[in-house]
Amino acid sequence: MKKLSVKAPAKINLALDVLYKRSDGFHEVEMVMTNVDLADRLELSELRYDGIVLESTSGFVPDDKRNLAYQAAALLKERFSIKKGISIKIDKQIPVAAGLAGGSSDAAATLRGLNELWELGLSYDELAELGSQIGSDVAFCVYGGTAVARGRGEVITPIDAPPPCWVILAKPSIGVSTADVYKRLNTSKMVHPDIEGMVEAVESKDYDAICGKLGNVLEDVTLKLHPEVRQIKEKMEQLGADGVLMSGSGPTVFGLTRHESRMQRIYNGLRGFCDQVYAVRLLGEKNP
Ligand code: ATP
Repeated sequence: MKKLSVKAPAKINLALDVLYKRSDGFHEVEMVMTNVDLADRLELSELRYDGIVLESTSGFVPDDKRNLAYQAAALLKERFSIKKGISIKIDKQIPVAAGLAGGSSDAAATLRGLNELWELGLSYDELAELGSQIGSDVAFCVYGGTAVARGRGEVITPIDAPPPCWVILAKPSIGVSTADVYKRLNTSKMVHPDIEGMVEAVESKDYDAICGKLGNVLEDVTLKLHPEVRQIKEKMEQLGADGVLMSGSGPTVFGLTRHESRMQRIYNGLRGFCDQVYAVRLLGEKNP
């Protein structure tokens, strides 16, 4: 029986803008996204019988058809009339409902892995198109690396990787509903981040400009709902991060630094103050 292991990295948003609410109910967004080296690992193994069996090491994610990785497998099975069974084991390392696209990345990794295991021969463009039926962030996660995402998040333009640096991620022990944050967003009262400027900063590997251009229009909404997110931002700034921003709809906050000693200081300063803290590297390069 064939078996395959796939990595599903988390993403952060270096910039996130919302342009307007569309007539289909979705928001038109413009985001600069990049992968970080914090990843779930998925083991995909063929079963002797038809069906999808899912297990995860986290008690916080569903193990049935509500799981996005399950939905990815079901979509491929249905679309290509595959009568084989598959077991999906998720070693969950990415915090759940955190703004780090953990579920979307698991779905994308499942699409990439099953494309190989079942020898479907689909391109990343085709997988991304399928993935966007599952969730808006799945398309980015299919390609990985660094990209501008437009539309409702599914129109992907890959860009060069940012320069290497440390990313400290801190998540308070609250979950944030992305739908709720978007619902509370007042699109007429927003300070829009400079998306073009961020793309230029990333592509020219200008670390200082990247730190200067970090921006997320969802931040104000989540900070108002959860004051502890603001406290974490302030703490990271005090500890010396060069740039600090909330990722996605939150509540995870990330801070950037190029120096290992500074990374240690920020990491140690946040532990004890915050539930989940990680110090990882920017990945930024596309999936092979
Ligand atoms: P995004 O940044 O794309 O908004 P997120 O990091 O905020 O995503 P996820 O961790 O993807 O959020 O989880 C959101 C919800 O999706 C959770 O409440 C969880 O129950 C559900 N979910 C379904 N499948 C998964 C999965 N494989 N991993 C994590 N959550 C999942």
